[in-house]
Amino acid sequence: MTVPIKEPVLVLGGGLAAVSFVGTLRSQGWNGPICVVAEENEAPYDRPPLSKEFQHEGDEDKIRLDLRQVKDVEWIRNARAVSLDLRGRQVTLADGRQLSWGTLVFATGASPRTLPTLANGPAPVLTLRTLHDARQIRARLVPGAALTVIGGGVIGLELAATARAKGTNVTLIEATPRVLNRCAPSTLAELVELTHRTQGVDLRLGCTISSLDGDQLDLSDGSKLRTDLIVVGIGVLANDTLAREAGIATDDGIFVDGHGRTTCPDVLAIGDVTRQRNPVSGRFERIETWSNAHKQSATAARALIDPSTPPYTEVPWYWTDQYHLKIQVAGLAGGDQEVVRGDPTSGKASIMQLRDGRIVGACCINNAREFMALKRLIAAGARLDLERLRDPTVDAVKLVTQA
Ligand code: FAD
Ligand code: NDP
Repeated sequence: MTVPIKEPVLVLGGGLAAVSFVGTLRSQGWNGPICVVAEENEAPYDRPPLSKEFQHEGDEDKIRLDLRQVKDVEWIRNARAVSLDLRGRQVTLADGRQLSWGTLVFATGASPRTLPTLANGPAPVLTLRTLHDARQIRARLVPGAALTVIGGGVIGLELAATARAKGTNVTLIEATPRVLNRCAPSTLAELVELTHRTQGVDLRLGCTISSLDGDQLDLSDGSKLRTDLIVVGIGVLANDTLAREAGIATDDGIFVDGHGRTTCPDVLAIGDVTRQRNPVSGRFERIETWSNAHKQSATAARALIDPSTPPYTEVPWYWTDQYHLKIQVAGLAGGDQEVVRGDPTSGKASIMQLRDGRIVGACCINNAREFMALKRLIAAGARLDLERLRDPTVDAVKLVTQA
């Protein structure tokens, strides 16, 4: 069943979620008016390479998003939406322009948390979210320079790995006693910590910055560091202010259902800015991954055209590349039992989390084929024979067919 979409469609934000949403509307045959308002003055680009390949290659053409499906779209760049009138169906831009909408889509993503106490001095204090940030960091990652990374999450660790490969000296400061605290089990964190230390990163766990004086950092462990550059990677906050001020339900993220619908009729939200039901945990969470921005947005667009579209229920997953480690993580970071297939220190293994005998999470290290199978088992809520699951000689794909 198709229904008429209320026109025009106005999308706020020009990242992956926006491109995926608009491209899907067009590829599904909808040819009504679409306008995208994008704060960055850039052709749309992919963010994952910013902490990885782009730091080495600096090739901006290579990271641009594929816009072949994005046809006949008015794209307003270098423009920020600053207020929203829900009743009058109007959005105001920072330059005073007013835009009308029939359907409004928040694709505004997230912004890095900052440490306001650290002011730029001789050692710049940067975050890594945009291409502009990535260019600034790239120019400073030179052999022998001293980089201080604050935060042992995915951004901080990927940047540390990239910087080491470029010959930059790296100190990484993480407030908690382990890295990847938010999004991976401790067994994986231990392997990642060992790898970074082996690669020469000075890893300070359970440590914070007390003050910055010029290029001198005072740390909570009493030590002092000289630094040329500080990159802060301590998580992100959803860009949900406009929605919240307009009365749409938010909580560091705009609440959406499986079709990207907010609590307000004809207003959708997609990508990093959303708070949605995680099908594995059952809780409303923000899912800050490339795959979510791509696929949740495509589902929302399809559902706008055809409300009988099944809701988005993909098991959350992400990848991270650090040195020789190609890591993929799906589902939950913890359960009541952990099963390891293979030896993580050998460079190829899978670490699985079970809850009540069902697989709820998997991390695969250099093991992409097994990852696909384990992700399917998580989606199926499969109950598995533990001995077979533990045995790396049993093909994980067979576990799927037998589950
Ligand atoms: P965004 O990409 O944040 O886009 C939102 C856009 O909206 C921004 O351009 C912003 O400027 C704009 N905007 C915000 N407010 C307004 C406004 N008021 N008006 C107009 N425009 C506005 N995920 C993985 O799964 N694997 C990875 O390896 C990986 N690596 C990453 C590396 C880096 C360095 C970063 C930053 C992210 C990485 N991610 C990775 C996460 C992934 O890139 C994000 O989940 C994805 O980009 C989210 O897309 P989005 O379109 O929802 O938001
Ligand atoms: P994360 O939330 O993953 O990690 C931030 C880490 O910094 C947490 O461990 C956090 O601890 C710690 N921290 C918080 N405050 C301090 C402090 N004052 N001093 C030292 N450490 C601190 O966020 P990132 O910034 O790494 O990533 C940001 C975004 O980019 C996310 O949306 C992420 O999904 C995305 N991204 C994804 C990648 C991928 O999937 N490969 C790669 C790069 C980015 P605590 O948890 O206790 O707050």
